[in-house]
Amino acid sequence: MTSTETLGALQSQLPELEWVTSKVNIKRLSKDFYWFSPLLTPQLIDKKADLVVRPKDETELKALISVCVKLNIPMTVRGGGTGNYGQAVPLSGGLVIDMTLCTAFEWLCDGLVQVQAGMKIAALEEHARKRGWELRCMPSTYKAASIGGLFAGGFGGIGSINYGSIATSGTVQAIRVLTIEENPRVLELSGDELSTYHHTYGTNGILIDMQLALAPARNWSEYLLGFDSIESAYAFCRELVDAAGIEKREVSIYDSIAASYFKELPIHLASGQFLVMALVAPHCHAPLTQLCKAHGGNELWCQRFEQANASGLTLMEYCWNHSTLHALKHDKNYTNLQTNYDSDHVLEQLSQLEEQVGEEVLIHLEFVRTNNNQVLITGLPLVKYSTDERLLELINIHQSLGIKVNNSHTYILEDGKHGGVLSADILASKAANDPLSLLNPGKIKSLIQ
Ligand SMILES: Cc1cc2nc3c(=O)[nH]c(=O)nc-3n(C[C@H](O)[C@H](O)[C@H](O)COP(=O)(O)OP(=O)(O)OC[C@H]3O[C@@H](n4cnc5c(N)ncnc54)[C@H](O)[C@@H]3O)c2cc1C
Repeated sequence: MTSTETLGALQSQLPELEWVTSKVNIKRLSKDFYWFSPLLTPQLIDKKADLVVRPKDETELKALISVCVKLNIPMTVRGGGTGNYGQAVPLSGGLVIDMTLCTAFEWLCDGLVQVQAGMKIAALEEHARKRGWELRCMPSTYKAASIGGLFAGGFGGIGSINYGSIATSGTVQAIRVLTIEENPRVLELSGDELSTYHHTYGTNGILIDMQLALAPARNWSEYLLGFDSIESAYAFCRELVDAAGIEKREVSIYDSIAASYFKELPIHLASGQFLVMALVAPHCHAPLTQLCKAHGGNELWCQRFEQANASGLTLMEYCWNHSTLHALKHDKNYTNLQTNYDSDHVLEQLSQLEEQVGEEVLIHLEFVRTNNNQVLITGLPLVKYSTDERLLELINIHQSLGIKVNNSHTYILEDGKHGGVLSADILASKAANDPLSLLNPGKIKSLIQ
């Protein structure tokens, strides 16, 4: 906790900055979606910043960092606050730096765009679409999340079927990062240097600008397709994913219980059936429906891009981690896991899992293109939570079947996607850029005293 005197000194030295001082707003801006995890909720529920600030640009950020370093104030950066693992939750009080006023659209040229990191992903997508481009990948939280938050705390999502995750080489091409020193330096980074700043929870610098490659925009049609078995739904998706002639932006599968929480969607599946969600270019309607029929599927519902825009209802807010959000609206006992299956044995793994856990774990598969043009089958299975011990046991059962689990029930950086240890490059950048360890303290296990 930072003392009232120190906070007063900070504000009085920077009176031109936008300070958030109301208790309600400080509490709100200290939270993300950690409450998806029953393990994280009791650990993070009481954590909050002492003060929040909303800088508008690089000049304000530099002045802010400089004073915080002099006064030894911990800083936690926040984009849209939609992260799932408490990444943006301040563990030691101090200052939350809300980046959502750093939203300048700097330039777009021939499929390459440069923006400030606090820009909302939906706003970036809108700017790009006006010029015939769209993001290569974006999370289902695109309306609230920032592009900096996606790179620093997320993975990918809609579009990853073509372009992989946000970290795929060539998607983010350059970043500018501020160091946490009395005289903050601006690091201009590209190529291999970028990986050190991806999914490191804003612990080793503050992203200010990002340069990203885009994809040609399409007016995606949205489809819901029904299948009688996981085998037919999966076979259809594999063929769709590999069908070079059918342009797509999203392909995912849900079992009938997971799909039953999509209450606003005009569909009803019988028990044991499977739902496929697909976003497909409008000129691909005929080959898509033909492929669906060939695998014994039915078209349940379809809407054109213009209809989605007019109604505001889009499947982009049902796929990826939104499936858990929809289930939680109706049953607070759900949480999820983040899984990677063995691409050659997905159906065997799912069947063995079902034998052991039944309906305690529901099926939700997402398809992602990897760097070497293979397909990664990832999952966001809904899990019926009973106890912490059982949740950990379910993780163990997945692992015993060869299903990789990226632990989404920890805020510790090493214990999530990084698989237990941080690379020497990440630790070196932390030491060089934030020598006093003021940035998002408590998230790196090896630095906790
Ligand atoms: C319902 C739901 C659905 C989701 N779906 C997806 C999905 O499809 N794909 C996916 O990848 N994720 C998904 N997520 C997780 C999250 O929404 C995304 O990763 C999102 O991109 C995070 O962006 P944000 O701006 O909200 O980040 P925040 O939560 O604000 O921050 C995330 C991390 O990045 C750091 N950070 C933010 N901005 C900066 C900056 N400028 N410089 C340095 N560090 C910074 C923060 O300190 C924090 O550690 C989902 C979450 C929910 C709740």
